[in-house]
Amino acid sequence: MTDKKVYQCPECGLHYRDDETAKKCKAWCNEHKSCNLEITQHSVETKKLREQTKA
Ligand SMILES: [Zn+2]
Repeated sequence: MTDKKVYQCPECGLHYRDDETAKKCKAWCNEHKSCNLEITQHSVETKKLREQTKA
């Protein structure tokens, strides 16, 4: 029920709820040495921030 498993991108340190997105992030970070907003918007950290600013 409470599956809190997250996957971390070892390059930028952001966490993702799914392995696939974390892999995408890692691949991008490796190649570009920067973050792709399209990917990082799915990170746990970004979603948390959004929830906080929404209130
Ligand atoms: Zn990354």
